[in-house]
Amino acid sequence: MLLTITNTQTPATDLGYLLHKNPARRQTFPLAFGQAHVFYSEARPERCTAALLLDVDPIGLVRGRKRPGNEAGLLGQYVNDRPYVASSFLSVAIAQVFGSALSGRSKERPELTEAALPLTAQLAVVPCRGGEGFLKRLFEPLGYTLTLQHHILDDKFPEWGDSPYFTVALQGTVRLRDLLSHLYVLIPVLDDEKHYWVGDDEVDKLLRHGAGWLATHPEREAIAKRYLKHRHSLARVALTRLVEDTPDPDATEQSHAQEEVAIEKTLGLHEQRLDAVLSVLKEGGAKRVLDLGCGEGRLLQRLLKDKSFEEIVGMDVSHRALEIAAEKLHLEQMSPRQRERIKLLHGALTYRDKRLNGYDAAAVVEVVEHLGPARLAAFERVLFGFARPRTVVLTTPNREYNVHWETLPAGKLRHKDHRFEWTRAEFQGWAKNIENNYGYAVQISNIGPEEPEIGAPTQMAVFTCGRS
Ligand code: SAH
Repeated sequence: MLLTITNTQTPATDLGYLLHKNPARRQTFPLAFGQAHVFYSEARPERCTAALLLDVDPIGLVRGRKRPGNEAGLLGQYVNDRPYVASSFLSVAIAQVFGSALSGRSKERPELTEAALPLTAQLAVVPCRGGEGFLKRLFEPLGYTLTLQHHILDDKFPEWGDSPYFTVALQGTVRLRDLLSHLYVLIPVLDDEKHYWVGDDEVDKLLRHGAGWLATHPEREAIAKRYLKHRHSLARVALTRLVEDTPDPDATEQSHAQEEVAIEKTLGLHEQRLDAVLSVLKEGGAKRVLDLGCGEGRLLQRLLKDKSFEEIVGMDVSHRALEIAAEKLHLEQMSPRQRERIKLLHGALTYRDKRLNGYDAAAVVEVVEHLGPARLAAFERVLFGFARPRTVVLTTPNREYNVHWETLPAGKLRHKDHRFEWTRAEFQGWAKNIENNYGYAVQISNIGPEEPEIGAPTQMAVFTCGRS
């Protein structure tokens, strides 16, 4: 069984620091079910490929052990596809051999663990019970482009039809730790073999490695059920815990509207922000625009009033916010012509979404600070990697300014659902990374009254890319 991971960002050999494996050496690791070999098939500055070759010992696997629930009988225990296909054994090997990379640690290049890199993972043989459609439904929402080769059962007997086996390449601009977590969880899901033992701690493993992406994955139920090998009681526990760990988007949105507005009211800051965003969109000549994380639709209202915007789309993860937006915009009472200009979509910005493709510009007003680090990375891929509007206007609080608000205790963020608030330097650093990783140019400016030392309350970045 072979997994390869290729990095094409110069210096590509940084992959060695991330995996904690020296490209110049071949290493072997003994595992309970065989051996894992790690080597590099290429290690050049512009392209570097690490390989994890699993040598599963089918005899060792069954020796002296009673396999629970194996209906295939003795022969099936020895003669099966286990040595050749990607299965839970590969996940175990990833965790043991690339453990530091999986948990996002790098001794020599700690900053690299947070960088989204152009990576390709290739799985030589994946059994996918559920077919090509299922493979795509698992990986595409996470932002990967898939290249699949479906193998027929036997070259000599094409009439026997397709096998459940695929060669799969996943390509995306992702953090290595995310790629490994996705593989760790989803490979056993694809395999769906029933006779592999599942212990109670598998729920913890699933939740740990699914942190930041599984709770909002459209296929989360199928993933939990298959990962836990149809142990329904465990799958129920996992799904309940997933939901409990994720804040209710509706509750978040409503309290946001009240709290943050109260703090910022004295400045009329929200109005200034919307004015600033609107003028950027207008000056850039955008006609088809997205408002991502549109909330109750205050920017949408302004966009509608301006005839230069021909097609307006608001998207939010909160159903409740979208309902309020629809009411405030009087969607029901609109003339058919006006109604055609605007669409409200329910969706999460952390998943690749074809509905967001092909727009001139996107506004992301006071949204990113609600995303934790893993979701922020997914958001970057979705917006700058896939949807790729020509212009992105993004605003977020400047944390340094918070000392200015007497009502805000020292060190506190403006809203309890904010996962972070950036200083000016942190925001610049993040924006520069977007420039480097996704080929956008950025300009940063301030919104609201500027104070010496601490700057202005809101920071705005305008990203533009050369796509015509
Ligand atoms: N842009 C609006 C609302 C800002 S509040 C305004 O300026 O008034 C942040 C909004 O982001 C909320 O409506 C919240 O529901 C939404 N949001 C948070 N996480 C999201 C996600 N992952 N996908 C889509 N919307 C999200």
